This record gives sequence, C-alpha cells and structure tokens, in this order.
Amino acid sequence: MSNSLDLRPLGNTGLKLSSVGFGASPLGSVFGPVSDEEAIATVREAFRLGVNFFDTSPYYGGTLSEKVLGKALKAVGVPRNEYIVSTKCGRYKEGFDFSAERVTKSIDESLERLQMDYVDILQCHDIEFGSLDQIVNETLPALQKLKEAGKIRFIGITGLPLGIFSYVLDRVPPGTIDVILSYCHYGINDTTLEDLIPYLKSKGVGVISASPLAMGLLTESGPPEWHPAPPELKAACQTAAAFCKKKGKDISKLALQYSLCNKDISTILVGMKSVEQVQLNVAAATELVKGDKDEQTLAEVEEILKPVKNQTWPSGIQQI
Ligand code: NAD
Repeated sequence: MSNSLDLRPLGNTGLKLSSVGFGASPLGSVFGPVSDEEAIATVREAFRLGVNFFDTSPYYGGTLSEKVLGKALKAVGVPRNEYIVSTKCGRYKEGFDFSAERVTKSIDESLERLQMDYVDILQCHDIEFGSLDQIVNETLPALQKLKEAGKIRFIGITGLPLGIFSYVLDRVPPGTIDVILSYCHYGINDTTLEDLIPYLKSKGVGVISASPLAMGLLTESGPPEWHPAPPELKAACQTAAAFCKKKGKDISKLALQYSLCNKDISTILVGMKSVEQVQLNVAAATELVKGDKDEQTLAEVEEILKPVKNQTWPSGIQQI
C-alpha cells in the first residue's frame, strides 16, 4: 500500500486518518447506479493510493452502501487493522430512531452487512432530526455500552446545523464523544465550521468534514435531483463550475484542495464511486502537498460565490 496521502490524527483517539477519506454513500447508488465490480475496483484503488478511512451508514441507499462496502472490503482483502471504518445509527430509510433499543440492535445489523466484528467509529446520524436531550441521556449511554462490549471503538455525532455539536458536547462528560462529523460547512462556498474548531480542539474531539464538493454542487455535472440547497446557491455553483470548465479547470479539484488545506480537520470525506474519481481526488491531495495550488482560479471562483457565501439550508427539527 503506498502512502502518498498524509495521515492526520483524529482528536484523542490515537487513530490516524488519510487526509482524503472515502465517503461510501455513492456505493449505495445514491448518486447513480454502481455495480459490485465497480465498487470493488474503486475500493481497491483507494487502498492502493493510501486511503485508509471509509465512512458509511445504514441510511445510505437503504442499507445498500454498507452491504456493498463490506463486500468490497472483503474482496480486496486488506487486514482489518490496517483500515478504519465508521458507520452510523439512528437514521434509516424508514425514519429516525435514536432509542437505546434501536441503536443497540442497529450495530449488530451493520456489522453483519459490513461482514465485520467491530467498527472503529459509530456515529449518531443527523441528530438534529431527533431530540438532542435523548441523544445526551439515552443514545450516548447506549453507545458507551457498545464500546465496552468491543463492538465499536469510538463514538461520534453528525449533522448539518453546527449548534448541535456544542449543545451535546456541553452536556456530556469529557471523553464521551470522540469525534464529530460535519458536512457542507468547510468548502469554497461555506467555511462556517472554522469558527467551531477551537472549541472542538479544547474538548479533544476529532473533526471530520464531509462533502467538500457540497454534495455535487461543486462538480461539473451538478447536484442530484434531491439536493436541498436553495436555488440561488445552486445557480451560483453552476456558474462557478461553468467558469472553471471554460478555463480548462476542474472545479472539484479546486474544491477538494481548498478543504484539505485546513490541517485541524483530520480527514475530508469525499463521496467516490469510480476508480477515476479516486485517482482524481488523491492526485488533488498529492499535488497540494507539492505546493501545486491554483490560487488565481480559486480567487475567481470565490468572487463568483461571494453573494452566496455561507448560505445553507434548513435541516431537522431543532431550533439551533
Ligand atoms: P461530496 O461533496 O463528496 O460529493 C459527492 C459527489 O461528487 C458524488 O456524486 C461523487 O460521485 C462526485 N465526485 C467525487 N469526486 C469527484 C471528482 N473528482 N470530480 C467530479 N465529481 C466527483 O458529497 P457526499 O458524497 O455527500 O459526502 C461525502 C461523504 O461524507 C458521504 O459519502 C458520507 O460518507 C459522508 N457524509 C456524511 C453526512 C452525515 O453524516 N450527515 C452527510 C454528508 C456526507
């Protein structure tokens, strides 16, 4: 396995994650169909190029992502202690359920689909859709028991509104939460995660940032139908993508490189579904290490996106 990607520590966990992490939601065919053969080849290429972190959830593709990722990891055959897997609990195709009973059952189902004895990280998935007090008082204690049982090594929480993280972290004993996963808040069009990083560091909590391409907004082909962004944000990103294309530049590369520059973030999780995407994304990271960064195009794209900077969309039932 080559080590072309840098490895970054994740909070106090002792884990070192590749700066580019493999988002496995596309393996659940949520961004278009992916065959098992493509999935296996994509995961194999990821390992070959130094990716060691894979993130999934029972929600992605209604359990398909976990099944396909498990199949691909088994087929590739890398020893289990050489890679890090995170999955989630509480969000399912059928809806949200953060009860102790459901999340306790959920990890066994995930482990079976993933064909594993343990996952490295189990995260409560999109907690803004549940009761944050239930997360504090019921879900996290249940996850603590799973940790003691050896089914999971570390505990995390995920979601879109940034206020959920401090709400929960302020109400649990230190060390309860090892990691947070934020998405769509550290990229060219939205950098609001930055303000929270000193607080997270002070708590020893590892930071994972997902969706550097803003779930498809910062790609040439554009976002999927279900993308929740408001129309003006979609339009501005489309303009930026067209601008880059005309200049012979790749907006996705620019976007990923932008996110990778913040070393306080342990890994940038990008969704990948083909060997080509893995190669492009790892190349973007390695070029950056060599100091190869297109500052001018970045400044031009930032200018295009200025009117929509830090625009986001509502998510969940919490007023935070
Ligand atoms: P993303 O911003 O990573 O965009 C993914 C899209 O971009 C897919 O369509 C993918 O095929 C495409 N893509 C990837 N590389 C490309 C390239 N070089 N050029 C052009 N297109 C490219 O969004 P995402 O997949 O939603 O997020 C990444 C991962 O982060 C997810 O797979 C998931 O694991 C995790 N995530 C978690 C949460 C959560 O827990 N709430 C939310 C969002 C994302």
